[in-house]
Amino acid sequence: MLALQENISLQPYNTFGVGAKARWMAMPGSTEEVMDLLSHNRSERDPKFILGGGSNVLFTQDFTGLIIHPRIKGIEKVRESDEFICIRAGCGENWDDLVDYCVRNNLNGLENLSGIPGNTGASPVQNIGAYGVEVKDCIESVEAIMMSDCERIRLSPKECKFSYRDSIFKHELKNACIITYVTYRLSKNAVFTTHYPDLQKELKKYPEVNVKNIREAVITIRKNKLPDPEYLGNAGSFFKNPVISKQKAESIRQSFPSMPAYKCDDERIKLSAAWLIEQCQWKGRKIGRVEAYNKQPLVIVNHGGATGNDVIEYAHMIQQSVSKHFGITLEMEVTVL
Ligand SMILES: Cc1cc2nc3c(=O)[nH]c(=O)nc-3n(C[C@H](O)[C@H](O)[C@H](O)COP(=O)(O)OP(=O)(O)OC[C@H]3O[C@@H](n4cnc5c(N)ncnc54)[C@H](O)[C@@H]3O)c2cc1C
Repeated sequence: MLALQENISLQPYNTFGVGAKARWMAMPGSTEEVMDLLSHNRSERDPKFILGGGSNVLFTQDFTGLIIHPRIKGIEKVRESDEFICIRAGCGENWDDLVDYCVRNNLNGLENLSGIPGNTGASPVQNIGAYGVEVKDCIESVEAIMMSDCERIRLSPKECKFSYRDSIFKHELKNACIITYVTYRLSKNAVFTTHYPDLQKELKKYPEVNVKNIREAVITIRKNKLPDPEYLGNAGSFFKNPVISKQKAESIRQSFPSMPAYKCDDERIKLSAAWLIEQCQWKGRKIGRVEAYNKQPLVIVNHGGATGNDVIEYAHMIQQSVSKHFGITLEMEVTVL
């Protein structure tokens, strides 16, 4: 039977670096260990929570149940055609190590997602995205184990119901299954997504556009713009970019003609949450040990010593300001516990 650890500090397991304790913690390293753990703890030690790299969570209190921190490793080639290679990765693989592996093998598709913290198992959960690419575009299938009865399931991208920073794993299957493996379909052809202005600008410094240079360019941009959780606790973007109706966007634009807005489809417009937060004077405003980062206000940072509740109170103040000024509700991207 897989050993459980008791009264574990979660501080090293979350990139915000906030303090909290878990009553129990387990680290299964294989599908068999996940099944063994679940069958021995079916209704005991509830609630249960699956924790990957902890780069998209905020603990506001001690966790009274069982934290499952899967560490299934392995990257293998499972299928190949003239145009594609399918790579299956264990949920415990570090995300950026997987991207690096693909880039080193000239496999295209994930390079724009270089430098995102966390583990492979979480990549489908919020359909990670950056610089014009979402991981859904490369996902072939997701394997998981249902927590209720240990049933093994395999979901197609359609069944995952991917959308902007969203999937079935945030709704019907929220905390209901443990993702064990993800299979990605990567292209052997050099077709790249480079339309993002920041990326275009950075790529001008390179002699040619190829998968290695895109990875390097993305990492450089991210290093200049985003705080490194090693030194400044954070969980990346705290809020999602709001998607609103075209009519509402037009009415706001009458008062704020310079407001950035991006067309999603004929009916809906995506706004920049960072711009809305900056307009409400939150950029670089420090309260106690918490701040909306001065280079990117969508990222809330912990200057050291802040509690999860300090962060959440700060986030609520931002939400209230944006709602008052623009009539828009900012939705949190981070999972708050
Ligand atoms: C500096 C910084 C920059 C970031 N930049 C980006 C970015 O550009 N784009 C982006 O999309 N995100 C970004 N993020 C957010 C974060 O890195 C991603 O969401 C990442 O995929 C989270 O992975 P994780 O392993 O840390 O998941 P965790 O934070 O541990 O968990 C996140 C959610 O996934 C669930 N989960 C985790 N593993 C599993 C599993 N095996 N099975 C089922 N559920 C699971 C958890 O229960 C939780 O609900 C950034 C974060 C930081 C700190």
